[in-house]
Amino acid sequence: MLIGIDDTDSPAGMCTTYLGAVLARRLIHDHMRVREARLVRLNPNVTFKTRGNAAIALDVEGDPGRAFCLACAIVEELADFSCEKTNPGVVVVDRRPDPAFYRKAVTDFCEIEEAVRVLDAAGARYRGWKNRRGLIGATAAVSSVFADTTYEILAYRDPVRWGTPREVDKESLFAAEEATFPHTWDTVDVANQVVVCVPHTPDPVLFGIRGESPSWVMAARFFIRSEKPAFEQIWVTNQGTDAHLISGTCGALREGLSYRVRGVVAGRPSTGAGGHVSFVIRDGNAEVRCMAYEPTKNFRDIVRELVPGDEIVAVGSYKKGSINLEKMCLVVPARDLLTRAPLCTACSKRMTSDGRGKGFKCRKCGAHAMDPEMRESPRMLTAGWYEVPPTARRHLAKPLCRGAPG
Ligand code: ATP
Repeated sequence: MLIGIDDTDSPAGMCTTYLGAVLARRLIHDHMRVREARLVRLNPNVTFKTRGNAAIALDVEGDPGRAFCLACAIVEELADFSCEKTNPGVVVVDRRPDPAFYRKAVTDFCEIEEAVRVLDAAGARYRGWKNRRGLIGATAAVSSVFADTTYEILAYRDPVRWGTPREVDKESLFAAEEATFPHTWDTVDVANQVVVCVPHTPDPVLFGIRGESPSWVMAARFFIRSEKPAFEQIWVTNQGTDAHLISGTCGALREGLSYRVRGVVAGRPSTGAGGHVSFVIRDGNAEVRCMAYEPTKNFRDIVRELVPGDEIVAVGSYKKGSINLEKMCLVVPARDLLTRAPLCTACSKRMTSDGRGKGFKCRKCGAHAMDPEMRESPRMLTAGWYEVPPTARRHLAKPLCRGAPG
């Protein structure tokens, strides 16, 4: 059977993965076999999310009726019902429902009724609390099929420590990264000297190490010195796989979906208030703005190197009229040509524009010229992929250390 759970936490505490890991231990204690624990990230632009829009699924051998009772009991015991936005869902199915529901939940938006239809068709046992929105994530989790898979070991804190500062040795995290990157990633951000894998929220997670296999995340984990975790769980995940991306074209993008969009840079990038960098790409007559926000740090220096005419693939979520860049590919670099008024050949003074399409005129001697002076600057940026640093990476975004996007 597959057990799915979602929407049990709030900004004040709890974490659905913690609840799932505790449930796995209770099922085992109840003589059931837990074959796999899945951490399933869904559309990162869903506004109802608490943090990273995660749901969980457990693949279990045992009595489904008993498992459903244990899962509902643990939700009643641990979910943060005090929060208005906490609307838990529990699902138990004998067989995986159509993965189309997962694909929609990770790339698009779903309705609660859609989830209920999938569950009824699958003959599922299910229960939703309050407005039942958690049934969406729980159904997506049990219907998930991953085209690509990564792993994360999550260490959970002893409940007596929840809400207190986490004791994790920073140097040991950098040592773990040095020894195991690129087989693990996003433990720390080396360029920005920031720890990435230790949350700052009051939830039960102590740290999480992401990597390509259970053995690599374990290898990194053994470097880490910290307060004693209550227990640890290796999750099979769709994190770092770009599962949220679909192909799109300028002028045909939907709010809250995440895309790969090809286009030609229309103008030089500009840096606005707050250090956010923006530029426009064009495809035929359609245009879309691309944004590299301040938290993307050094990635903005790369974006500022783009010049008009560069052919790129922009990757990110389309929100409020802009693509929020997660990464980009410079496919065909353009020549960096700057034009300006020429020098007068008679008196060596810089000419001025004589009006649109009318060429240039020397204010001193009245000489006229049609062609501007062209200056070509060498390009610093070469063709290839560029990405935001680990500190700004979204859970689902595939890091370039895992290979160039397909
Ligand atoms: P955490 O990462 O800390 O576990 P969270 O960020 O996962 O928290 P939730 O509390 O699970 O946040 O809230 C997300 C809510 O959005 C859930 O009710 C889930 O069912 C719902 N949801 C998830 N994906 C979609 C989607 N594609 N369309 C509509 N609702 C969704």
